[in-house]
Amino acid sequence: MHLALKEAQAAADAGDVPVGAVAVVDGAVVGLQRNRKEELNDPTAHAEILLLRDVSQRLGRWRLPDVTVYCTMEPCAMCAGAMVQARIARLVYAVPDPRGGAAGSVFNVVDTPELNHRIDVVQGVLMEDAKAQLSAFFRRVRGRNSGTLDGRGGASQLDSARPSDGEGCPSG
Ligand code: ZN
Repeated sequence: MHLALKEAQAAADAGDVPVGAVAVVDGAVVGLQRNRKEELNDPTAHAEILLLRDVSQRLGRWRLPDVTVYCTMEPCAMCAGAMVQARIARLVYAVPDPRGGAAGSVFNVVDTPELNHRIDVVQGVLMEDAKAQLSAFFRRVRGRNSGTLDGRGGASQLDSARPSDGEGCPSG
């Protein structure tokens, strides 16, 4: 998760919402990606999607039942769906996303009995670190957009730190 947080910081430095994801097989890192939605002008360029593509290419297979994915934020419906498609074994994430999380918060795409694959989920790992990173990013964006921080500035909660345009997915 420390690696994922480092990757998320690279996203923030490039102007993207800080979300990072790491894939691990048998204790070895096999992939590392960050949110690149703004950078690539691609609505699907979330860290998790890029990660699954990268790892599948590298391993030469799209079925990834031996893979654990570490994310700095709860995946959205698109990414959670892709994880089910890839049949990943386990998902570990830091911050829950009450506005669009699909691993238990708003939807539970990763653990739906009707689907042909269910994923073990662990949440809350290094949550405070990831939260602080997101808050810092949105504080900076808000400061840049408004020129100065208004009366709402300085919020520390993830929710209030979101951009005012109310974009649903945290990854962008
Ligand atoms: Zn996503």
